[in-house]
Amino acid sequence: MNHMIRVKGLSKSFGKQRVLKDIELTVAEGQIYGLIGPSGSGKTTLVKMIVGIDSPDSGTVTVMDKRVPDLGLLQDIGYMAQSDALYLELTGKENLAFFASLFNLKGSRLKERIDYVAKIVDLETSLNKKVAAYSGGMKRRLSLAIALVHDPKLLILDEPTVGIDPELRQSVWQELLELMAQGKTIVLTTHVMDEAAKCEMIALVRDGGILASGSPEELKAKFGASDLEGVFLAAGRGAK
Ligand code: ADP
Ligand code: MG
Repeated sequence: MNHMIRVKGLSKSFGKQRVLKDIELTVAEGQIYGLIGPSGSGKTTLVKMIVGIDSPDSGTVTVMDKRVPDLGLLQDIGYMAQSDALYLELTGKENLAFFASLFNLKGSRLKERIDYVAKIVDLETSLNKKVAAYSGGMKRRLSLAIALVHDPKLLILDEPTVGIDPELRQSVWQELLELMAQGKTIVLTTHVMDEAAKCEMIALVRDGGILASGSPEELKAKFGASDLEGVFLAAGRGAK
C-alpha cells in the first residue's frame, strides 16, 4: 500500500482554543477517505493543513513523500474550499479558464478539460452565464469543477455536496467513484452520514481529535452498531 498522505502529531490552536489535538492520519493512494464530524469539530482546519494553506503549531503533513508546504505539490492537488472562491463578474467558463491558466493549461487541452469538468458537474448549459447569477448549488458545482480542471492526483474536497440537490449529489458521487477507479485519491469532509458510508475509509472527528478510523464496515463491527450514527455515538461515549 502506497501512502498518499501522512499526518503526524498535528496540533493547532486559535488563541486558547485547541482546535486540533495530536492528529494522526494516513490516507492510502487510490482511496476515498471521508472526514466526518459535526460542525466546529476541526475538519476544515485539518484539510487546510493538508493542502498547506495554513500551518500547524506542531506536527507534520507529508503528501506524496513531500513535506507540506511544497510548491511542487500544487500541481498534484485539487482543493475545493468550504466557501466558494469564485469571480462573480466572470462567467463559469471564464472562472474555469482562469484557474486552469494557473496550471498552464492552454489550447485544445484546456478546452477538453473545461468540457469534461463542466459535464461532470452538469453546468454545460450555464457556462456562459456570470457566476453572480448562479444559485448556491451551481457555485458549489463550479468550485468542484475548478478543483478537477488540472487533473490532479489528489482531490481534497471540503463539504463538496452541501447545497447540491439529491439527484445531482448522486451523480457527483458516481463521478467521484469513477475518479477513484481511475486511481485518484480523494479526501472529503462531510457531516452527512450516508455520504460517509460511501467512503472506503473514514475518520470520525470530534472536538479536534479523531475518535476512530477504519472502513465503515470495520467501524460498525467494532462498535456493535448497525449504522454510522450508532458508531459515532458509541465511539463518543468511549472517548468521554
Ligand atoms: P469544521 O470544519 O469541522 O466545522 P473548523 O475547522 O472550521 O471545523 O473549526 C474548528 C474550530 O476552530 C471552530 O471552533 C472554529 O470556530 C475554530 N476556528 C477555525 N478557524 C479559525 C480561525 N481562523 N480563528 C479562530 N478560530 C477558528
Ligand atoms: Mg468545515
